[in-house]
Amino acid sequence: MHYGYDGRVAVVTGGSSGIGLATTRLLLASGANVAICARNEERLQKVASELTAEFGEGRVLAKALNVLDEADVQAFAVDVQDRFGRCDLLVNNAGQGRVSTFAETSDEDWRAEYELKVFSQVRPVRAFKAMLTEANGSIVVVNSLLAYQPEAHMVCTSSARAGVQNLAKSLSVELAPKVRVNSILLGLVDSGQWQRRFEAREDKSQSREDWYADLASKKRIPLGRLGQPEEAAAAICFLGSPAASYITGAQIEVSGGVSRHI
Ligand code: NDP
Repeated sequence: MHYGYDGRVAVVTGGSSGIGLATTRLLLASGANVAICARNEERLQKVASELTAEFGEGRVLAKALNVLDEADVQAFAVDVQDRFGRCDLLVNNAGQGRVSTFAETSDEDWRAEYELKVFSQVRPVRAFKAMLTEANGSIVVVNSLLAYQPEAHMVCTSSARAGVQNLAKSLSVELAPKVRVNSILLGLVDSGQWQRRFEAREDKSQSREDWYADLASKKRIPLGRLGQPEEAAAAICFLGSPAASYITGAQIEVSGGVSRHI
């Protein structure tokens, strides 16, 4: 599918793996030039070389940084301005979940989780706001269904996710009418995070296929499987594109129907 990004520029945080990488691919295939960032320089540069080989020279800018580092994120925005001269879409995707119950979560864990969830939004929005405003651009917040449907074994992630959803709504008002702000709410999407949990499984004799099928059944996912990163990417690319020009402050669930609310 082509989402009509010709001549546009997108920034995808956490673009070296999973949903961020699938989104970057789809944006490139849809005509955008894309800037990506992630912490692990080696993996990021490897991905950037592969994308350049696939989509052509000069279309990908990759910078190793932690989205929590204000100075590095600001410098990244300057790099995007210098290289591409504009920014039409910011996809705030970088991050990961924290598995812990209330009893297992220390004050330090709470602080670290809130810092990751909130500042992985705040810092990039602050850095790219001027360019997004100039371009009449948009922001897509990659969030989790946990914001509405908390899970006891992910207590601080769930709570921080609710805060992020609230923030996205406020931003959609403060940045209007120039910049649209929307979010996607993920259920379980097969990516680096789940691969790591599969590798750490207790019963090492269980195959990948069986482990994933078991997970989908335990979580009672109506569509009977985990989502693929490309399926999350499709929703992100739609929300960020001109096809969604009258949509702001909204959210799309990409969860295979796992949400229990209406
Ligand atoms: P992956 O682990 O596959 O990808 C995460 C990406 O984010 C990597 O590129 C990683 O690179 C980067 N990243 C992580 N932390 C930082 C940081 N502090 N600064 C810069 N880059 C960072 O996971 P997913 O694709 O699954 O995750 C994408 C987003 O979706 C995350 O925010 C995740 O929490 C969210 N999500 C995913 C769900 C799922 O089921 N997959 C469910 C709900 C939410 P590096 O490690 O090199 O920094």
